[in-house]
Amino acid sequence: MPLYEEPTDRWAWVEIDLNAIRKNVRALKGLLRRGVKLMCAVKADAYGHGAIECTKAMKAAGADQFAVATVAEGVELRKAGIEWPILMLNQAPLTAIQTLVDYDIMPSVYTSEFALAYGECAAAADKVGNYHLALDTGMTRIGVLPEDAIEFRHAIDFHRGLKCAGTFTHFATADNLQDWDFRLQSERFMDTVNALRDAGCDVGLVHCDNTPGMILHPELHNDMCRAGIALYGLQPAETTASRIKLTPAMSVRARVTRAIYPAVGEGVSYGLNYRIPTPHVQVATIPIGYADGLSRTLSGRMDVLVHGKRARQVGNICMDQCMFAVDTNPVRSYRRAEPVAEGDLVTIIGADGNERITADEMADLRGTINYEVTCNFGMRLEKVYV
Ligand SMILES: *Cc1c(COP(=O)(O)O)cnc(C)c1O
Repeated sequence: MPLYEEPTDRWAWVEIDLNAIRKNVRALKGLLRRGVKLMCAVKADAYGHGAIECTKAMKAAGADQFAVATVAEGVELRKAGIEWPILMLNQAPLTAIQTLVDYDIMPSVYTSEFALAYGECAAAADKVGNYHLALDTGMTRIGVLPEDAIEFRHAIDFHRGLKCAGTFTHFATADNLQDWDFRLQSERFMDTVNALRDAGCDVGLVHCDNTPGMILHPELHNDMCRAGIALYGLQPAETTASRIKLTPAMSVRARVTRAIYPAVGEGVSYGLNYRIPTPHVQVATIPIGYADGLSRTLSGRMDVLVHGKRARQVGNICMDQCMFAVDTNPVRSYRRAEPVAEGDLVTIIGADGNERITADEMADLRGTINYEVTCNFGMRLEKVYV
């Protein structure tokens, strides 16, 4: 329950437990041999948890490097005074190269056109153009193909402005325990790294494991692991749940802005899809909607927690508000709920008493993954760090 200062201007917010983040970082570090670095993915505003605060908490708990998805995400961290290494997990448009150099954000590289332009820009600024070579070993997303890797390096290595600070790939099926495709990708990756070394290339830090890879495939930790979802206390897959204990960092809360007893037959929200079925049904409103990340596809199918108990969300979820119903009928006492009042605390994600609604429960209802659920709640709600 909130024992902190809530936002003063809106009765809906995201609560981020930085202690949980630090705990998760330490748990992940505990999986690594001495000397193996931990890169923390803080892209998409730290999966909706707030990149600046999370980056600082992760560093305090032992993180070594950070990964972002866009130039703007890297710049945001630098402007906040964060000086630790930042890798952009993609190549940027040529027009963004000056910004990368100005802010010391390392790009992932897979075209020689980009690499050479980046090297030129770095050299002109009297800087070292650190980059990580991305290899496409089977995900078919970004990267140089394994068979082109040596030729690629030979085509750019002459440039004095460039330095290969890392070589990496990304797995498509790291959450499978016995997976032929995973084995193929990891073999292609290690073979290519070895071939690059044999050809005299400095490959820098070698890394390939994401969260599921890190937990299930320690033989592939190499020099560094790139953790994401586990930092925020969520499991990437069912296969990892028995291997590591994590603490969810995000809760989503709101307070009731209105609660009334509509007459039987009255409807709720756009479309009036929900009708008051019996007397004594209370309808309460909370100021959180799909523009805050509460997907409209959940309408009428999700629960919220109030007074430590589940209540059914009813009617279509609006852009900025939604409603839930509480059956206070004293006759059907087995289901009877306490009436709610304006100002009562409502939990959308997180725990209230002994009840809990997880990002995984919401993801299942939406037909998506927990990653998307937390990213979405980062969109507009104010974050409170506890
Ligand atoms: C997002 C991302 C990660 C982290 O993935 P998780 O599944 O959250 O651990 C690692 N590497 C790359 C290239 C990514 O894009």
